[in-house]
Amino acid sequence: MRKPVIAGNWKMYKLVSESVETALELKSLVANASHCEVVIAPVFTALKTVCDRLEGSNIRVAAQNCSTEIAHSAHTGEICADMLKDVGCSYVIIGHSERRQFYGETDLSVNQKTKSALNFGLTAIVCVGEMLSERESGRERDVVKMQLTRGLNGLTANDMARIIIAYEPVWAIGTGKTATPEQAQEMHGFIREVLTEIHSKSTADATRILYGGSVKPENIATLMSQQDVDGALVGGASLDAKSFSKIVNYK
Ligand code: PEP
Repeated sequence: MRKPVIAGNWKMYKLVSESVETALELKSLVANASHCEVVIAPVFTALKTVCDRLEGSNIRVAAQNCSTEIAHSAHTGEICADMLKDVGCSYVIIGHSERRQFYGETDLSVNQKTKSALNFGLTAIVCVGEMLSERESGRERDVVKMQLTRGLNGLTANDMARIIIAYEPVWAIGTGKTATPEQAQEMHGFIREVLTEIHSKSTADATRILYGGSVKPENIATLMSQQDVDGALVGGASLDAKSFSKIVNYK
């Protein structure tokens, strides 16, 4: 019922030429992947070229951030969601933990950016996840519930059709430490309960929840075998087309 999504977050890696090279290599390696949506998120400067070069393929392109603002206005250094749409993006990652940790992203800005993305017809991949200290003190559910409640505040059931949640425990990002399939399932099941509370069971059942945190070709299959894991948001292992294609072709 929920089509899996395998998304690669390229973070601040790759020049335009390198992005195009990886994207084109990936294009042929995943050409037959119809079991899932394949998404890559290059840096802003490479978005237009990568979108153009992937036209007609089964790979969709995401930006890694967008502005809270919906009007073209005096916001130096920001990029409005319709500008992302304009260059061919169909997704945007919002509230990645690196943005929350290093760039002051809050649940309020996540909420504004999500609304902005939806306003222009983008699908928002909204990231949530607890820090190590929060898990160690048993607060991981409270933290994730708060991020969801505030981040998705004011969205309608219709809006939710264009929301994808990415659960990314911060202690698992780029550390080589993956949550066990059981830990991932436990939190994904909880997220679905929270979405049921906020919206309805049918909305919760229809929402894709991705796992992120040191996903690799070796662990994707067991993660995907969990009933509430609907895909992955992949950082490091998405930078190499062969490695990312193995994750896409996990079946
Ligand atoms: C990420 O950046 O979203 C991520 C999950 O990174 P990694 O796969 O490298 O842990």
